[in-house]
Formats: sequence, C-alpha cells, structure tokens
Amino acid sequence: MKAIQMVDLKTQYQHLKQEIDAAVIGVLESSAFINGKPVQDLSDALSAYLGVKHVIPCANGTDALQIALMALGLQPGDEVITPSFTFIATTEVVALLQLKPVFVEVEKDTFCIDPEALRKAITPKTKAIVPVHLYGHAANMEAIMQIAAEHNLPVIEDNAQAIGCDYRFSDGTVKKTGSIGHVGTTSFFPSKNLGAYGDGGAIFTNDDKLAVQLKMVANHGQSKRYYHDVVGCNSRLDTIQAAILNIKLRELDNYIQRRNNAAAYYSKAFAGNPKITTPAIAGYSNHVFHQYTMVLNGVSRDGLNQYLAEKQIPSMIYYPVPGHKQKMFDALGLPEYDLPVTDWLTERVISLPMHTELDTEQLEYIALTVLEYINNN
Ligand SMILES: *Cc1c(COP(=O)(O)O)cnc(C)c1O
Repeated sequence: MKAIQMVDLKTQYQHLKQEIDAAVIGVLESSAFINGKPVQDLSDALSAYLGVKHVIPCANGTDALQIALMALGLQPGDEVITPSFTFIATTEVVALLQLKPVFVEVEKDTFCIDPEALRKAITPKTKAIVPVHLYGHAANMEAIMQIAAEHNLPVIEDNAQAIGCDYRFSDGTVKKTGSIGHVGTTSFFPSKNLGAYGDGGAIFTNDDKLAVQLKMVANHGQSKRYYHDVVGCNSRLDTIQAAILNIKLRELDNYIQRRNNAAAYYSKAFAGNPKITTPAIAGYSNHVFHQYTMVLNGVSRDGLNQYLAEKQIPSMIYYPVPGHKQKMFDALGLPEYDLPVTDWLTERVISLPMHTELDTEQLEYIALTVLEYINNN
C-alpha cells in the first residue's frame, strides 16, 4: 500500500505533469512573470466557473480577506461578525485592520456560522459579516443574506475551503459559494481544493463599483499609473501560479467527485457507530470535502490520533483553539465569550486523510483502523 498522507500533492501532480511542466516552461519563456496572460485567463475561467462577474486574483487567501475589508471602507473600531470556529486568517485580518472581531457560535452539525447567533450579535457598530464555508460545506447563505439585507450589511464569504460548492436557495436557484455575498474570497494554498504550487488567492464580486475598489486596493491604491487614491497593498497572483491553476481548474469538478467518493467510503464505514458523528450535508448545500471532519462522542481523541499515528495514518485537529481563545486577541480587550458549541466541537473534532488520490486499499485500511480503536475503547 502507498504511504498515507493527509494530502497527496505529488501523485496529483504526476497525473498532470506533462501539461503543467509545459505551462510553467511557457511562462519562463515568455518571461511575463507578473500579470502575464495566464492571470487574465484564470480570472475569465473562474468568472465563468463561479458565475461571478469580477474575479480579482491576489497573493493569498488572507490578503483576499484583508483587501475585501479594506475595499468596503471599514473604519477602526467597526465590528465584524465572524465564527470563532475557523482558521485564524478569517479573524486575524479583522484585528490587523483595527476592526473589532465579534465571534459568534456555529451550528453543531454543519460547523458553519449559526444565523440566529449572528442576528443576535448585530449592534449599531456592526459593519460587515464574514461567514466561512468550513471544511467544504456552505454556511446557510439564504438566512445570512436575509439578515444582512435587514440591517444593510455587506457579507464577505470566506470560500477558501469550499471552492466549487453549490448552494441551493429555497426557490431552487443554485449558486456557487463565493458568488452569493457582496464579496467572496478564496485561497489557492497548495492543499486547498484548487491548489497552486505556491501561494495564491482571489476575490469575487458581482458589484462593478466594488470591483474597481478591490482592484485598486490590491494594487497600491492606484487608480491610474502612479496616481494613488487610497492606501492599498501589493497583492498579486504570479503568472506561473495562474498557469498551473488554469490547468487544475479544469480538474476541479473531478477532484470534488474524488473527494466525495473518499468521504462516502468513510461515512458508510462509520454509519450507525454511536461514537462517531460523520459530516452532515444540509439540504441547501453539497459538500466539496476540503476536510473529512468527524465528531467523536465518548472516545479519546488523543488516543485515536496516537493509535492512527502508530499505524502510519496521519490525522489532524482543525482547529485546536477557537478564535475567541487565541492569545493574539487578548490585547483587544474583547468580552468574555460563552460559545459552548464551538468549545464542544473544538474538543471533539478530528479530520482524516482527505485528498484526490486516496485509493480503496488506503480507505479500507484507514476506516478499519479507526473502527479498531473506536470499538476497543
Ligand atoms: C486557508 C484559509 C485562509 C487563508 O488562505 P491563505 O492562502 O493561506 O492565506 C483563509 N480562510 C480559511 C477558512 C482558510 O482555510
């Protein structure tokens, strides 16, 4: 059996090696390293894939979030509502811009922001909402957009883990996550579902005015060459990464299918086990399984993690500390938070290997080894 990894980027590359090598060499020979044609090609292709009018590539998913907040013109002290149960980038940029993160609860089954908790957290100082489509499952965007509309608040979707995910509205309309809010952001970090071979990110919007602002902020606040209207930053996707992503974007739906196959294998193997809650899929979302994250009930997570490691199976805790307990926010003097679902999940979630190259032999071995531990402890 091939060694099991959390993410197997090497095997995935080998399937596309000829095409990717040629594309990279093409960029080297053109020497258009910055803003070469592949960057525009990727914007166009992503725009068509996501059904969104404007795509602004940038240097990484964290910058994408930061640029989105900057382009919305938020002022120091403005409150930004986000889930606490997410990767730190979502909330870090809020604090970095001297905005105030307001952490709210997630739903126990979808791991995404709880719309009712979000509604309760809105104050006159609230200026934006940042839902996260965690692990590849959509947040309840219909409810979130409704609440945002009632309060006239912009919504920034952190779509770093869910590119390609479909969201179904109650009237039957289907939209890709990242194209529903006022702005969407994503990351092309190598292990993400659409991963580059280095850093990368992108911002999405259907709003023409906001698109102008986003482009300006990402490019030194420049309105025309050497005329700088606002304080911006320098955040670009380089041409080599764009060339690679153009090839990988064509594979994305296939990759999502492969991730779903692996997830279905796990979920079938663990079905009905009282000690494992397998990932839920809400009626409004499909799942692109950036992670396969289960919740353990009455069994030691450290024990399972260690047992799997002894059997050469990696497993990960995403994330061991929720935002509202991160030391980095101590200096902000935030209130004492009471987020029992977030704390409960933080103590019980564990993620199994999940990528596009898992074969049946590996999946069988992983599932059997998990059950071996669970059934004996
Ligand atoms: C990966 C990730 C980011 C940040 O992306 P980078 O490209 O690493 O900066 C932001 N939010 C979430 C939820 C992520 O998973």
